[in-house]
Amino acid sequence: MTPLTPSLTAARIKARARELGFDACGIAPATDLPELRAFAEWIARGYHGTMSWLARSADERSDIRRMLPQARSVVVTAVNYNTARPFSTECADRDTAQVARYAWGDDYHAVVNRRQRALLSWMHHESEQPFYALDYVDTGPVQERVYAQHAGIGWIGKNCCVISETLGSFIVLGVIATSLDLELDRPAFDHCGTCTLCLEACPTQALVAPGVLDARRCISYLTIEHRGEVAADLVAGIGAHVYGCDVCQEVCPWNATAPASADPAWQPRPAWTLRALDDLEQASDDELRRSLQGSAMGRAKLAGLRRNVRMARENAAR
Ligand code: SF4
Ligand code: SF4
Repeated sequence: MTPLTPSLTAARIKARARELGFDACGIAPATDLPELRAFAEWIARGYHGTMSWLARSADERSDIRRMLPQARSVVVTAVNYNTARPFSTECADRDTAQVARYAWGDDYHAVVNRRQRALLSWMHHESEQPFYALDYVDTGPVQERVYAQHAGIGWIGKNCCVISETLGSFIVLGVIATSLDLELDRPAFDHCGTCTLCLEACPTQALVAPGVLDARRCISYLTIEHRGEVAADLVAGIGAHVYGCDVCQEVCPWNATAPASADPAWQPRPAWTLRALDDLEQASDDELRRSLQGSAMGRAKLAGLRRNVRMARENAAR
């Protein structure tokens, strides 16, 4: 067993994470956590749709030690990307393009990766002994949500999002698996209780059971990951969403008083702020490409975005 490094404690890592712009940080064990096992069944049911990389990496996702056999602890970070703007459900207008909150500003992968790399490099500098580590922000074969729950960041809600009691669920998670034996946090408690607001509000009935998402029906999947035409029975539910969907988070009572971040990285880009659908449809390819630079929305590609705008226009005309 790796001895605890006296110079690099969990408390110091959390304090440094705060200094680097993280809103929460906790430590989970790199062990066989029971919640990790649900993923294999989710894949077996085909709920991942065409996201074949999820099925291909199911083994790795079953335990972070598949990626780093020496892992003993998982440092989980969270950044609040919420901004002080109304929810899409509050300004629902069939002619106005809706974009998921996380995509309003700069690409969170780049922003949070930079901070996480800085945290990891500081850990290496401060540790009296060398250690193994791997870090991921959304792109690795890791079930971040499970480790976040066990790190005390928040519980996995019936809407499948990690919900922090203090931050709500508009948060980006990052993980650093490390061979260090760090002091662990207690897992977060589930505070969903008898609430089912998210299941009832989902426009496409994608939450097929509490905490179970059929991605094939989810607007986030349909507008971002899915290529080609969308099945006719799902188009109407997409409404004016042109990139992602926040409905199941917006109706969550834990987001009603979620704090807003003043971080410039998350402030909405004018190109995507309450933009009229017809204006968006008429935008040139050059303009759209420029507005996608450095944005998480690049994932949908220009063709996907144009398809989404077309569906939203069809829905507005219904
Ligand atoms: S993101 Fe939207 S479509 Fe997907 S589960 Fe939530 S409410 Fe439903
Ligand atoms: S809306 Fe209710 S059930 Fe859904 S995640 Fe929030 S608290 Fe849980």
